[in-house]
Amino acid sequence: MIVVMQSGADAATIDHVIERIEQLGMKPHVSRGQFRTIIGAIGDETDALLPQLQSLPGVESVVPIMKPYKLASREFHPDQSQFVIGGVRVGGPGCVAIAGPCAVENETTVFTVGRAVKAAGATMLRGGAYKPRTSPYSFQGLGEEGLKILRAAGDELGMPVVSEVMDPRQVPVAVKYVDVLQMGARNMQNFNLLSEVGQTTRPVLLKRRPSASVKEWLMSAEYILAQGNKQVLLCERGIKTFETSVRYTFDVSAVPVAKRESHLPVFVDPSHAAGERDLVAALALAGIAAGADGFIVEVHDCPEKAMCDGPQALTPDMFKDMIAQCKAVASAIGRSWELPGAKPSAKPLAWGGA
Ligand code: PEP
Ligand code: MN
Repeated sequence: MIVVMQSGADAATIDHVIERIEQLGMKPHVSRGQFRTIIGAIGDETDALLPQLQSLPGVESVVPIMKPYKLASREFHPDQSQFVIGGVRVGGPGCVAIAGPCAVENETTVFTVGRAVKAAGATMLRGGAYKPRTSPYSFQGLGEEGLKILRAAGDELGMPVVSEVMDPRQVPVAVKYVDVLQMGARNMQNFNLLSEVGQTTRPVLLKRRPSASVKEWLMSAEYILAQGNKQVLLCERGIKTFETSVRYTFDVSAVPVAKRESHLPVFVDPSHAAGERDLVAALALAGIAAGADGFIVEVHDCPEKAMCDGPQALTPDMFKDMIAQCKAVASAIGRSWELPGAKPSAKPLAWGGA
């Protein structure tokens, strides 16, 4: 439920409502606006609760949230959420490019690719240290060693870094090195892992599972938000359909649907959807045109030698061309582009009283 406080409600009145929400077995999520405070009361909603909250002093109205995803919904938070991650604004007017190798293979590759993608206009650096591979005999990633390399490259290049965690036990290690924790598509419904990353202060890039509906994807975001972590970035990366000409079917309609349903920034990953490099730019352009707040793509200086996902890795030159095209599309729809090392122009919108 959403408890809308009267515009003049003072701190003590608001605290009393928060206390009452807790006594009723619900979790309060406070959003202090310029003119009024809104409190999300999240938990098991029964019919008796509404009149009880409605009768408290200072309460203007109580509105049930109809969607099963409460904190992720636009009903709860009508304004677009924006976060500043290491100086890069996400969810604002500027689109954001995250790029880098699929896996952290060695220091040379990460630094070489990092320099190239930064020069071309990427604002964040990606690289997997824990790799979810179909075969247990394939390269599984360098683990903590890989995270150290990625951090060193991010620090040298002035780029926030993004890396995947696959297991709750990896989370305390990863938070020491990464700016954004990536939840891989296969783990979208690993509820223990979602709760674990929800307890950190790191933004989370939540990939959509190939077999998940948009509703299930948003319910997974809800798991993270319910733990108190408000910085969730949704990422469409292709779904399973009957089509076999591409690795996954890039669900471009998921972008405007997710943006309509949720206030969270929406990213696209055209690399894992396409599965082959020649298709990546077209899907990225479609994603930006559809309203995505940015993309995450795989780039390798020598794709044929890549230890993971080589066929879909862009060369640095292809990435440079793609960025130029994406900037043109962004500008055609009234969006700008977050530049490497750019300082955000204003404070991000905060919710939950943070
Ligand atoms: C990745 O980003 O390298 C990755 C494994 O992605 P996904 O979880 O979308 O397959
Ligand atoms: Mn990959």
